[in-house]
Amino acid sequence: MIEQKVEEKKVQTLSTPCLIAIRANFRKILWLWFRREFEHLEDLSFKAIKVKDRELNKSILKEQGELYEVRHKTPISCVLCNDFEANLVYEPKRRTWFCIVCYNDAHNLYPDEYP
Ligand SMILES: [Zn+2]
Repeated sequence: MIEQKVEEKKVQTLSTPCLIAIRANFRKILWLWFRREFEHLEDLSFKAIKVKDRELNKSILKEQGELYEVRHKTPISCVLCNDFEANLVYEPKRRTWFCIVCYNDAHNLYPDEYP
């Protein structure tokens, strides 16, 4: 029998200002890495388009999509307001991270979508 693990909503909570600052700095480093990789793939994609290599461009776009997905599954910042210092809430339905303020706003507007 295969067990299926049900993902639950998770909350990262830090309240010590020093730890929040350290976490924010790590998150910014990760965010810069993702941004650099996106830009690199974008450059490769433009070059593939210039030489009309559709297969190469297709594989680059696929890699960009995978990177985008990993970025949103990684607790770097809120996907809506991009706050690096905030405590984040993992929303398993969308497999992404929100700050508590944005999540609560979304919950108030769409309670069924953001339980
Ligand atoms: Zn937010």
